[in-house]
Amino acid sequence: MKKTNIVLFGPPGAGKGTQSKFLNERYGLHHVSTGDLLRGEIQAETPLGLQAQELMSAGELVPDDLVVGMIRNLLEDNPDAQGFIFDGFPRTRAQAEALDETLIRIGDPISLMLALEVPEEDLVKRLLGRGATSGRPDDKSEEVVRKRIREYEKKTAPLKEFYHAQGKLRRINGIGSIAEITARLTDAIDG
Ligand code: AMP
Repeated sequence: MKKTNIVLFGPPGAGKGTQSKFLNERYGLHHVSTGDLLRGEIQAETPLGLQAQELMSAGELVPDDLVVGMIRNLLEDNPDAQGFIFDGFPRTRAQAEALDETLIRIGDPISLMLALEVPEEDLVKRLLGRGATSGRPDDKSEEVVRKRIREYEKKTAPLKEFYHAQGKLRRINGIGSIAEITARLTDAIDG
């Protein structure tokens, strides 16, 4: 059976993690968050985690080969998944090309890119609010939060064009209640 592979896209604080959980329940897709995977590596004090930690706490992206390697391992380890929701990946053109190359080899290319759109000032408010309870050091400082948004605009946002050229981009208004946004996402997937 054809797999459904979705890129859930958007700036930091757009609600990708929250919405991934709902989509995971509804469609049975495997949720893959490179941020969560990296935080797991830091927790376990692996060499990869040590390499990533400083960059993450500065709000900068970690090197492409490192995240691409993690994703390739994960795809290999889960050959029977019905499909994947990629959350926070790809974040650069090189990552998007590596993902396409890997998925095409397996035979299940990306189905859709769902791009959550939220204005910067709302993102900053949400992230700093989350920082009070999430325990994520990169959500605590306004400087780091703004740095992550700059990184997104410079390196990641251009990927909308990459998927648009493949006819896969769907822009989703990311302002509203969690349930409203879930409904917009499921409409885009079902439609
Ligand atoms: P996130 O949990 O998606 O907000 O990611 C937290 C941090 O992990 C980011 O600010 C980056 O430092 C790093 N990170 C997560 N995913 C990627 C990725 N695909 N490419 C590069 N860095 C990443």
